[in-house]
Amino acid sequence: MKIIDLLKREKFSLSFEVFPPKTDTAFENVRTATEEIAKLSPSFMSVTYGAGGGTSKYTLDIAKRIKELYNVPSLAHLTCVSSTKETVHNRIADMKAAGIENVMALRGDIPAELHNDDRSHWDYHHAIELVRELKESSADFCIGGACYPEIHPESKNQKEDIKYLKEKVDAGCEFLTTQMIFDNNLLYNFLYKIREAGITIPIIPGIMPITNANQVERAIKLSGSFMPQRFKSLVDKFGHDPVAMKQAGIAYATDQIIDLYANGITNVHVYSMNKSDVASKIQNNLSDILGK
Ligand code: FAD
Repeated sequence: MKIIDLLKREKFSLSFEVFPPKTDTAFENVRTATEEIAKLSPSFMSVTYGAGGGTSKYTLDIAKRIKELYNVPSLAHLTCVSSTKETVHNRIADMKAAGIENVMALRGDIPAELHNDDRSHWDYHHAIELVRELKESSADFCIGGACYPEIHPESKNQKEDIKYLKEKVDAGCEFLTTQMIFDNNLLYNFLYKIREAGITIPIIPGIMPITNANQVERAIKLSGSFMPQRFKSLVDKFGHDPVAMKQAGIAYATDQIIDLYANGITNVHVYSMNKSDVASKIQNNLSDILGK
């Protein structure tokens, strides 16, 4: 099923994310986590793509399993930066052959060793180029893209970021998933601005349940997301106690999701990161609200 079609439903639903293993030996753990998350019957499951494409084979395998074995719509991520045209075209052909219907078109993070590279010879610079190629391919993919309520770290300002976002949407993105947010007000403000700029496609907010104190630093470094004082207090209070921190992090994410639904958002994406227990607890916390 195409994600754009399920987003048209009014029903409140959650989607979850898994990331592929780096090695064959780790595949079994990811397979188990994927199966457990799929049993929660999310609206869809996304499968990330390792930076530089090292885990691309697994992304495709897992996305195919989700769809075929568990009957849950899957979204395969694909990045283009630091890839050649040939590699990307092969990946697109593989996805088509595997019957993948939904693709998240991303630029990808620029590997540290390429930060000072002369970029003029690169085949790809931005996600929009990948969106165009996916559109031109003979497969009828539903294409998603990323967006940043707090501005992409490389953007000069929000106006410029939204201008490029609009171009990406006009090129063929049918829905957007946001970078993780810890303060819903930043999302509401962003929605107002992008709607004003003429971006009318569905926006899926991304919520990351922080379940241990070490994750906080990593999440900020990765996303640059703002941590509200309410969240910082929670980490100060429970960060040293893994069990309490997990419960508090899940409660915080649940609270954010309820607020999003109360404000008219019907699909929320949970960055569940292969943690099936976390996905399941969030889902249970919302059991009487889901499907409404
Ligand atoms: P782009 O849309 O290309 O934007 C990147 C920057 O370039 C922005 O500042 C934008 O304003 C600017 N820009 C865009 N178009 C132009 C243009 N034509 N000219 C000049 N500037 C332009 N990374 C992975 O490696 N694997 C994943 O699976 C993955 N999944 C993700 C899922 C989500 C929901 C999100 C939010 C991020 C994900 N990332 C993933 C990280 C993502 O690859 C990085 O955030 C990356 O830095 C930007 O990717 P993008 O697709 O948003 O890029």
